[in-house]
Amino acid sequence: MIYFDNASTTKINPEVLKTYEFLLREYYANPSNSHAEGLKVNSLLLEARREIKKQLGLTKSTLIFTSGATEANNLIVFGVYGRYHSRGKKIIISKGEHSSIRNSCYALANDYDAEVVEISLNKDGTINLKELESALTKDTILVSIIAVNNETGAVNDLAKVNEIVRKMPHTFLHSDVTQAIGKVKINYDMLDAFSFSAHKIHGLKGLGALVIKDKITLRPVTFGGDQEYGYRSGTINAPANITLSKTLRLMSENSGEKFKKVTKLAKKLINYLTKHPEYYDINSHLSNPYIVNFSLKKHKGAIIKNALSEAGIMISTTSACSDKANAMSPTVFAVTNDIDRALNTIRVSFNSDNTSEEVDLLIKTLEKLMKEVRYGT
Ligand code: PMP
Repeated sequence: MIYFDNASTTKINPEVLKTYEFLLREYYANPSNSHAEGLKVNSLLLEARREIKKQLGLTKSTLIFTSGATEANNLIVFGVYGRYHSRGKKIIISKGEHSSIRNSCYALANDYDAEVVEISLNKDGTINLKELESALTKDTILVSIIAVNNETGAVNDLAKVNEIVRKMPHTFLHSDVTQAIGKVKINYDMLDAFSFSAHKIHGLKGLGALVIKDKITLRPVTFGGDQEYGYRSGTINAPANITLSKTLRLMSENSGEKFKKVTKLAKKLINYLTKHPEYYDINSHLSNPYIVNFSLKKHKGAIIKNALSEAGIMISTTSACSDKANAMSPTVFAVTNDIDRALNTIRVSFNSDNTSEEVDLLIKTLEKLMKEVRYGT
């Protein structure tokens, strides 16, 4: 089996699994309890928090463990609006946000009068910075811009976004860094908040985090025993949370070399796609090689995806969260304004263990399918 669906989720790193098994067996006490075993777990948890913040270069920040980026994204959107809506009701996002940001914002618009502004995307999939600049007003309480788009892999210039947002002293800047962390360099400390999931970087499923600068307070979404600084009540999943430190460390090890290796894979695939403009439109750029997205000109995306799956090659059409039959890629539509192109996208997403031989096989299989599978449905 060839696995090219790493933007959706990844295989767990065996080292992380080993640590998790050990912690589950040995460090099972509740870290909120002050008995000796609880304190033992709590001290390991504190160490993991410190280590994660150090790895990400964070100062004056709070790390809130969550079940993943979806929960973290919901918490920042609802939490900021709940706490700061008296300052203003405007939230700015981009047309390339993950559904967990977009749908949270529109839930607020529907139920609590939030004003949501979506910044359009340039031809390369990045956000239109000029539009962001003019949309930003005093009543903007939150700007949330994805670091790396999960469908096209487009990398936003967060340093420039930060420069623009800082012109409004009361606007918070959040970024969904789920597809960037451990792959693309980011100055995390300049952001007011960011979200990510562990399972996208060979960690555990059902684990992630929201990091917020200490100057931010949120209205909690979950109420109860006040765990996680009161932002996420419920018994702390200490064994899982502790593994996040190792997950990040392993993902970041030799990240430059991994990036170069994946670039070679992406180049090989893009070279093949470029040679066949009769079949393919390319929707991504090599600035981030981990995701290659293209549209099929003559075939249905879902049909080719299933045929590839039968041949043992796992890819996806849009993002896994919207990978239903005939689902349109909102990002590709935002970039191209072309429904057919957005309906028939293929996303190939690599990890650093993928090989050149695997890409060869994908190309060979695509070549065969383009000729053998009949056009359309
Ligand atoms: N944001 C981005 C950019 C993603 O790619 C994903 C996963 N598709 C999420 C958020 C949601 O992550 P999870 O499903 O782990 O909550």
